[in-house]
Amino acid sequence: MPIDKTPEENAILFVWFNHYAGVLIKTPSKTLVIDPVDIRARSFPDADAILITHEHYDHLDPRLIAEIQKATDCMIIADAASAQRLQHAIPPEKLHQIRPNDEIKIGEVTVKAQKCNHPATTPVTYIITSEDGVKIFHTADSLPFPELADIGAKEKFDVVFCTVGIAPGTSPETGFEIARLTKPQVAVPYHTNSKEYQQEFAAILKAEQPRTACLIPELNKIYQVSKRK
Ligand SMILES: [Zn+2]
Repeated sequence: MPIDKTPEENAILFVWFNHYAGVLIKTPSKTLVIDPVDIRARSFPDADAILITHEHYDHLDPRLIAEIQKATDCMIIADAASAQRLQHAIPPEKLHQIRPNDEIKIGEVTVKAQKCNHPATTPVTYIITSEDGVKIFHTADSLPFPELADIGAKEKFDVVFCTVGIAPGTSPETGFEIARLTKPQVAVPYHTNSKEYQQEFAAILKAEQPRTACLIPELNKIYQVSKRK
């Protein structure tokens, strides 16, 4: 499943690799893995960084992260509770704790944490800006929250990942609400094992916000998203 191609200029590639928030993102220069669980370490031979949103079992697997880190020497960026669980498994110089509004550079790629509306200890969401300025918003398994409107207006996202199931309180409607508030070019319904939920999300989006395209991802398939014109 590693992505062996490079995105075109002003574009990124992504793969959704589990039924939760597991996403692999490839920019022209960097490979980022978010919330890897239910997958083999060798799927990420070229990881530059692993990003963890919160400590729940479907997002944080310390043994797997340690294995990927050892094989690739990648950087780990994690919310405080997850970072604490990782501190004995990861070399201290490779483990970076992040809080909402903190920003960390991975070469020319920027990772910024934001608030996350989810019942975990210190959950975060991630804004990732590629070296070409492609803007990705990985909202972990957040429910909508009002500040998303300001974040969306400021960042002008190319792609936003929207949770439509499994996590407490989430549904195609709450996923749509995230897309409605953030107004991306492309919205991706994820964090579900229900195709119906993804299609329901697509239907609401089409009816209520036709200017945002819906991309229903298949697991382990590569998608390219280009910067909005
Ligand atoms: Zn989850």
